[in-house]
Amino acid sequence: MSRARCGGPPAQSREEHQRRSTARAGGYPGAVPYLLHPDELHSLCPDEPPFRARQLRDWLYRKPALSVDSMTDLPPDLRDSIRHRLWPFSVDTEQTADRGATVKWLFRAPDGAAIEAVLMGYTDRATLCISSQVGCALACSFCATGQFGFERHLQAGEIVAQVAYARAHLRDVGLSRGPNRLTNVVFMGMGEPLANYDGVREAIRRMVEEMGMSPRRLTVSTVGLVPGMRRLAEEPWPLNLAVSLHAADDDLRSRLVPINRRYPLEAVEAAAAYFFTRTGRRISIEWTLIDGVNDTIAQAAALAPIARRLGAHVNVIPLNATPLSADRPSGHDAIDRFVGHLRSLDVNVTVRDTRGADIDAACGQLRARRSTAG
Ligand code: SAH
Repeated sequence: MSRARCGGPPAQSREEHQRRSTARAGGYPGAVPYLLHPDELHSLCPDEPPFRARQLRDWLYRKPALSVDSMTDLPPDLRDSIRHRLWPFSVDTEQTADRGATVKWLFRAPDGAAIEAVLMGYTDRATLCISSQVGCALACSFCATGQFGFERHLQAGEIVAQVAYARAHLRDVGLSRGPNRLTNVVFMGMGEPLANYDGVREAIRRMVEEMGMSPRRLTVSTVGLVPGMRRLAEEPWPLNLAVSLHAADDDLRSRLVPINRRYPLEAVEAAAAYFFTRTGRRISIEWTLIDGVNDTIAQAAALAPIARRLGAHVNVIPLNATPLSADRPSGHDAIDRFVGHLRSLDVNVTVRDTRGADIDAACGQLRARRSTAG
């Protein structure tokens, strides 16, 4: 096995590594393992032999544990030195729902930023929904995150640490349902992942190359940022792309999703088609169903040709009510009518179950609360 890895990053990229590793955003006081590039972990133990950094890398990415106490092959001094900064956040609250099959964490970065993640256990899989930004600038009318504005991007390490924490929780604690290893990750928590492209890209790289997760089990969900969708199509990983459409004509879509004025439906569809052509991965279309707004037969009829052209699967998400909007979810009859009409037009469609609604953990309910912890 090569020891070069522990000798530091290759010369030409040293500057880039240093730039990334500087914990500017977040108010972190010192070097935090997940905020370092994995090649730089030796800086946490400069007096130790190189294999220590490899051991630490394994603990962080291959077999995450909730506490350094599990890392018994590391010397006690090293364990103690990272004990209080193993995670780049503290756990502010942990709530469970659905009889222990769902758990939501509110993590808190040192600058007070709230980072939310939701882990859901199903019979055959365990899916983690992660955040890519604190807040969101895109202001979709029905989304709680957007209603509270944008605070900052998450660093790659803050994103990947959500995944590591959930994996550690599954191993050390577990859920009442599903496998005890994380199978899927979706970027459907707070924020617009493609607006934080570099942070999200590096987080995905670490999930795939460091953690060994399959890119086919990772889903990036976007409001339709066309340049980011095209860039993602060029990446070397067969990822899943979910496009949050919500309306099939520009007038309605611009009301629900204001960024549609910059990237209208036609451009979003073209970018989705490009993604499918480049990667061979089937697109999914997200459709949050709002009573009397986008649950009409006319919208279903306009959506069907788009979905068919893309060969896309439609995910219908019944609206989860949020504090600052009067929008209401569609009733059962309206959902059945909308879904039935799509099916009659040969569109694949499923209605997503609403996990965690009673703990505000459902789609669109995550939001950064103002810091009270200072
Ligand atoms: N910004 C990304 C990912 C975050 S939201 C995106 O827009 O895709 C993940 C999904 O939840 C999106 O499809 C979003 O439209 C949906 N969503 C947001 N608010 C919701 C709400 N209140 N009820 C149901 N779904 C919602």
